[in-house]
Amino acid sequence: EFIDTHANHPHYKAPIGNRLHAKSWQTEAPLRMLLNNLDKQVAENPDELVVYGGIGQAARNPESLRKIIEILLELDEHHSLLVQSGKPVGIVRTHPQAPRVLIANSNLVPAWSTWEHFNKLRAEGLMMFGQMTAGSWIYIGTQGILQGTYETFVEAGRQHFNGDLRGKLIVSAGLGGMGGAQPLAATMAGAVFLGADVDESRIQKRIESKYIDRLTHSYDEAIALVKAAMAKGEPLSVGLVSDAGDMIEKLIADGLVPDMLTDQTSAHDPINGYVPNGLRLDEAVDLRKADPEQYKLLSLKSMARHVGLMLELQKRGAITFDYGNNLREFARQGGEPDAFNFPGFTPAFIRPLFCEGKGPFRWVALSGDPEDIYTTDRALMEAFPENTALINWIEKAQKQVAFQGLPARICWLGMGEREKAGLIFNDLVATGKVKAPIVIGRDHLDCGSVASPNRETEAMKDGTDAVSDWPLLNLMANTSGGATWVSFHHGGGVGIGYSQHAGMVVVADGTPRAAECLKRVLHNDPAMGIFRHTDAGYDKAAEWGERFGLKVW
Ligand code: NAD
Repeated sequence: EFIDTHANHPHYKAPIGNRLHAKSWQTEAPLRMLLNNLDKQVAENPDELVVYGGIGQAARNPESLRKIIEILLELDEHHSLLVQSGKPVGIVRTHPQAPRVLIANSNLVPAWSTWEHFNKLRAEGLMMFGQMTAGSWIYIGTQGILQGTYETFVEAGRQHFNGDLRGKLIVSAGLGGMGGAQPLAATMAGAVFLGADVDESRIQKRIESKYIDRLTHSYDEAIALVKAAMAKGEPLSVGLVSDAGDMIEKLIADGLVPDMLTDQTSAHDPINGYVPNGLRLDEAVDLRKADPEQYKLLSLKSMARHVGLMLELQKRGAITFDYGNNLREFARQGGEPDAFNFPGFTPAFIRPLFCEGKGPFRWVALSGDPEDIYTTDRALMEAFPENTALINWIEKAQKQVAFQGLPARICWLGMGEREKAGLIFNDLVATGKVKAPIVIGRDHLDCGSVASPNRETEAMKDGTDAVSDWPLLNLMANTSGGATWVSFHHGGGVGIGYSQHAGMVVVADGTPRAAECLKRVLHNDPAMGIFRHTDAGYDKAAEWGERFGLKVW
C-alpha cells in the first residue's frame, strides 16, 4: 500500500490524514517518518534508499525496509523493535512509555572504525551508513539544515560585516541534500551566493524546490550574475555546474575575493561522496566501483588542492570556515599541512547557542496538511512573543520555504523552550486544532548529543573533544525518559571514525501519556547540552543551568 511498485523505480509515500494503519500513533509515526525519509521529494536517491549526506540510508535494503514496515504495522505498546544498521533484528518486551523503536546504525569498535572496514562490511550487506537523520527517520528535507545555515551566515555577518550582508558574496560548493540549503539561507540573510556542484541534477533539484535562483554551466555567466546582484545590493543565488576547486581557482585568477567562503561537498566520504577533480561524474561512478583505492587517492589529493585554494582566498581576506564535512582532515591526509588554518563553524559561530541548550528542534505534521504547521507556527509565535529571532525566522520561512514531503518546520529552540513547545503541540492535538499528531525531533547535531572533534566538539575548552560518554548518556536519558524512538549512530557529518551521536524523536499524540513523556524528554535532552558544556568549563552554560535549576557538581 505504501510502496508503489508499478513504476520502474519503487515510489515511497507516507500515508497522510488521521486514519491509523498501525496499532497506535506511537508506531504509525515512525512508519510515516520512515516512508517520508524515502519520498522522492525528500530523499536524494530513493532508488538506493539514500536520503542525504553521501550514502546516508533509511534502511539497509528493500527487504529490510518491507520487514520494518510489516513489524511497525503490528507492533503493540508492550514491545519495541530493534534495528541494527537499517535491518530489523528483533522485538523486545517493554512497556507503554518506552521507545517503540531502538536504533543503532554504523557503530564499530574504535580500533576498527575506518571507512575501509566499514565499506567492506557494507559491500557484504552487513552494515549501512545512517548519517544523522537518514537512518533515524527524522530527515525533513533541506529545510532541516536551513535555519542553522541561516543563523551561521547571520552570525558571521554580525561578527564581520556589522550585521549587514547586502551586496556581500558567499561562496561555497556542494548543493546536495544539506548543502542545498546554503543558497536559500544566504539570500534569506540578504547576501549573494555562488556555489559549485559537479552534478547538474543536484542543482536542478534545488531550482525545483526553490532553494536556488539560477543554474548555469558558464563560469562567466555566473560571475556576471553575482556581480550585478552585488552592485545592486540584491539577494541572488547562482549554482554553477563545476568542480569546487576549479571554481575557486578561477576566482583567484580573476582577483575576486568572496566575503565568506566555505564548503559542503560530501567530503566526509572520500570514496562514495567527494568527486575528485578532473573526473566526469560518470567516470567517477565507474572508478568508485573499479578501483576504490585509486579513487580515494585522487579524492584526497583533490581535497588538498581544494583547501589549498581556500587558504589562498582566506589570505586575501575571505572569512573562511569549515562547514562540518571534515574537508580539512581529508585535505591534511591528501598533503595540505595547513588545512586546519581555518576554523570549523561550531567554535566560530554555534557554541554559544549550545551553551543555552539550543539546537535544531524540528516538528512534522503527520496529517500531511500544511495548515497544521501554520497552526503550530502561530502557537509558537504567541507563546514566545519576546523571541524576535524565532518570530522573524518563522515569518521568513512561511514565505520562502517550500515543504518537501510531510509538512515540517525547523526552529532552533533551547532549554525551557523545547518543553513548552512540545506541551503546546500536544494540546493542539488533544483539542483537535491540528488534524493529526505532531512528531517532534532534532538533528543529531545538537548541544548535548554528539562527540565529533572536527565539528560539534571541536576545540572544547577542556580538551574533551573526543569524549563520547556524552552522546551515550544522551541516548540513555532519552530512552529512559520515554522518547518514541531513539538512535545511536557513528560517522555522521564527518565520516566513519570521526563522530558518535544520538538521536531522539517523541510524538505528541494529544494523550496525557504523551504529555508525561514530552515533559521528561524535552527537558532532559537540552539539559544534556548544558551539563556537557558546564562540565567543559563554559560559564554561559553554568549560568543557563542555574536559571533552570540544573545543578552540576
Ligand atoms: P550530499 O551527498 O547530498 O551532497 C553532496 C554534494 O557534493 C553532491 O551534490 C555532489 O555532487 C557534490 N560534490 C562532490 N564532490 C564535489 C566536488 N569536487 N565539487 C563540487 N561538488 C561536489 O550531501 P549533503 O547532505 O548535502 O551533505 C554535504 C556535507 O555536509 C556532508 O559531508 C555532510 O556530512 C555535511 N553536513 C554538514 C552539516 C552541517 O550542519 N554543517 C549538516 C549535515 C551534513
